[in-house]
Amino acid sequence: MGICSASTFSAANSPHYLWIGENFMCGIVGYTGKQNAVPVLMQGLHRLEYRGYDSAGIALQQKKGLGIHKRAGKINVLESSLPKRIKGNTGIGHTRWATHGEPSDTNSHPHNNNDGTLAVIHNGIIENASQLRARLEAHGVSFKSETDSEVLVHLIASTEAASLIERVRIALTDVEGTYGLAVIDAAHPGVIVVARNGSPVVLGIGDKEMLFASDTSALVRHTQQVVYLSDGEIAELTPGAYRVITLDASPSQKKTTTIDWSAETYDKGDYSHFTHKEIHEQPESVLRALRGRLDNKFQTAHLGGLNLQPRELLGFRRIKVLGCGSAYIAGVLGARTIEQLARVPCDAEPASEFRYRNPVIESDTLYLAVSQSGETFDTLAAVQEIQRKGGRVLGIVNVVGSSIARACEGGIYVHAGPEIAVVSTKTFVSTFLAFVLLSLHLGRMKDLSVAEGKNVLAALNLIPQQIHSILDAEPEIERVAKKYAVFNNAYFVGRNLGLAVAMEGALKLKEISYIHAEAYPASELKHGPLALVTPETPTVFVLPDDELIDKNISSIEEIRTRKGPVLAITHPPREGTQQLFELVDDTVIVPKSHPILDPILMLIPLQLLAYHIGLARACDVDQPRNLAKSVTVE
Ligand code: GLU
Repeated sequence: MGICSASTFSAANSPHYLWIGENFMCGIVGYTGKQNAVPVLMQGLHRLEYRGYDSAGIALQQKKGLGIHKRAGKINVLESSLPKRIKGNTGIGHTRWATHGEPSDTNSHPHNNNDGTLAVIHNGIIENASQLRARLEAHGVSFKSETDSEVLVHLIASTEAASLIERVRIALTDVEGTYGLAVIDAAHPGVIVVARNGSPVVLGIGDKEMLFASDTSALVRHTQQVVYLSDGEIAELTPGAYRVITLDASPSQKKTTTIDWSAETYDKGDYSHFTHKEIHEQPESVLRALRGRLDNKFQTAHLGGLNLQPRELLGFRRIKVLGCGSAYIAGVLGARTIEQLARVPCDAEPASEFRYRNPVIESDTLYLAVSQSGETFDTLAAVQEIQRKGGRVLGIVNVVGSSIARACEGGIYVHAGPEIAVVSTKTFVSTFLAFVLLSLHLGRMKDLSVAEGKNVLAALNLIPQQIHSILDAEPEIERVAKKYAVFNNAYFVGRNLGLAVAMEGALKLKEISYIHAEAYPASELKHGPLALVTPETPTVFVLPDDELIDKNISSIEEIRTRKGPVLAITHPPREGTQQLFELVDDTVIVPKSHPILDPILMLIPLQLLAYHIGLARACDVDQPRNLAKSVTVE
């Protein structure tokens, strides 16, 4: 951790273009060793739950052959269907996000071959599944499910070789598509073979035990020594060893990485929800984003991972930010910050839109790709499109070593730490801080004065403590939340940076509480939305005490005339602003910071508001319906 050095955020030497078409909202996990694999698999599947899934299943090597248990629905459904004393020292587990065939018990993974000796789990999409299915059926194979994945098990069954890894390798030479897959064979006790193409697979090296999973969250309880497989690699795991080969059978030398995060990071601890825990982690995650990056000598920010010479940075005449969801909104806020501090024209656009409109790529534009997971499909595709056209892209990413981090030529890790809840909270704030640091860095290379640089640094140092003070006022925010939980529609409004905060506040409320929430520029209210303002439609007003406060007070008057309830997130009253406190129904008062950083302090109450409204409406706050943490599909 610490400052982002070239070695931790650099991929100019390892372009990674095989990810198009992948789908890994779901997960895989496996164990071989001395322990009973069942609790390891079940715990691992729970860890991967945040990725989104519709069914789950496990396969075990047991005395009498392979045991397979699978169910559509939540992991708990599978758990309660398992026999009481189920055991096996080698096993694989899967959560499915259906692409071929509805979520059903039969279509759930693992799948097995006709004599029941092999079991396969698969994340991804097999593109030539129908041709392979026809070929296998012509040879007498009978299929049980509608999935594309089932072809894999029959294909492996149809190969001949002494080792399982060789059989899998031969089978995969016929396969087109993406996979993170794992296979066990009743004839090879203790052996698991895994393979990767476009869907992540990480090996975990334990003490006389070996694991694998889609991501490290499912491994940390057992080991911190991991090996990341690359696309086109196949690994054979036994309790005491592993070996990796490529699809053309050459051996692959792999490096072991020690992961920084311990198992506790992935636990809720004393909190009842990850969302709540992550909101409360923000004083620390802010410190991590800043650590080693504040340069008090030159009153600027030090960013070691940009991999661009100052002269190159100065040569960019424009900056374009791309991201999806909260990452896009952090980009909107970040773009305004860059313009204000560095005076470089900058705007943000959803990566999902950008990539489909045949964008003009300019050599004097710097592109910034923003993603928490670093795996967001649309953002990665946008990066590849820009690079194909010769553009330069830096990443602003949370997950170290992720696909976008590797695809970009440099960037800034936001160091928010693992974010498990589906909705982004601490990552949003840390991502925005990365923009502030970049703005400061660029600004101080241009016209931003030493004195102004010093003001920003001083304000940054106060942020963790100020966030603490807002979190201490949570009972008050909870009280307000209960009052607003009864509405079914809400506006979130603000101006300039406040508008971006309103956008993020509205998104949080939508995601967590399912209330229809729309963000609008306060200046635009009278151009349409006022028509919908009634006593049943409250407005959450992001209202910093800045040069626009009088204009904002006029907008509030417009709303109050229509009897719309107003909740203002604002600064302490002073002479000239008291009238505001009489106008609005409720206020949440936050401490003042540098105007560039006020958005952070105004957002924290909105995160808590969404959380408590979600609770009041009995919503699944950590896993909102229809949403997944890393959106790795189109
Ligand atoms: N395409 C496979 C299926 O629909 C696997 C989906 C997944 O990645 O879980 O079963």
